[in-house]
Amino acid sequence: MPLELVTVPCLGDNYAYLVHDAATGATAVVDVPDAAPIRAALAGHGWALSGILLTHHHVDHVAGVDELRAETGARVLGAAADAHRLPRLDAALGEGDSITIGSEEGRVIEVPGHTVGHIAFHFPASALVFTGDSLMALGCGRLFEGTPAMMWQSLRKLSALPPDTLVCSGHEYAEANARFARTLEPENPALILRSGSIAAARREGRPTVPSQLSDEMATNPFLRANVAALKAAVGMPDAPDAEVFAEIRARKDKF
Ligand code: ZN
Ligand code: FE
Repeated sequence: MPLELVTVPCLGDNYAYLVHDAATGATAVVDVPDAAPIRAALAGHGWALSGILLTHHHVDHVAGVDELRAETGARVLGAAADAHRLPRLDAALGEGDSITIGSEEGRVIEVPGHTVGHIAFHFPASALVFTGDSLMALGCGRLFEGTPAMMWQSLRKLSALPPDTLVCSGHEYAEANARFARTLEPENPALILRSGSIAAARREGRPTVPSQLSDEMATNPFLRANVAALKAAVGMPDAPDAEVFAEIRARKDKF
């Protein structure tokens, strides 16, 4: 049975995710921007928290960790590379490490760029990937610590996952991301369609996450720096992919 996924809006525009294995009752949360909404979601489902998975050290992803750990005894897992600036870890993880939620096994993917220690969690059997502020709906995280080449490599790794994978990312930024994407590819039919569904979702107060990886591949400019249409759009038809990505990221920063 696939893992059950619950999207939990937190703070102004953050998302945490509850992941529940019905077979064993195991429940994990990915990122803890704030303990209260996660506590409420757990209570609403009658689930007991067993694990806390952290994508990166920023305060809007870890602020409620100590509180939830104290209440539930859940184990905290995060990047070994950032153990010095994450809440205390029970397991420190790196590329390829295995993690389990009940009976389902996942894998750690290192995705540096937004921060150098950023990691993602992939659960192949349930076709879920938790990307925090690396790959986001129609966007990617700002490069606070890494280089464009580093983030491009990280996004390439995520692009290689099966196209039906659901991308569970850390913020509700899709509407602004859609406006930016359309400056680059105003005629992309998939992007026009997706912009419409994003606008409708936001009007109705629904999250735009999770998103399907195949939709990201077709519409997310940050995954498309290797596509001729995007290279042409930024006037760099012959440039290497990572340089085109750097230009797209620089334009978004000024947008
Ligand atoms: Zn962040
Ligand atoms: Fe964030």
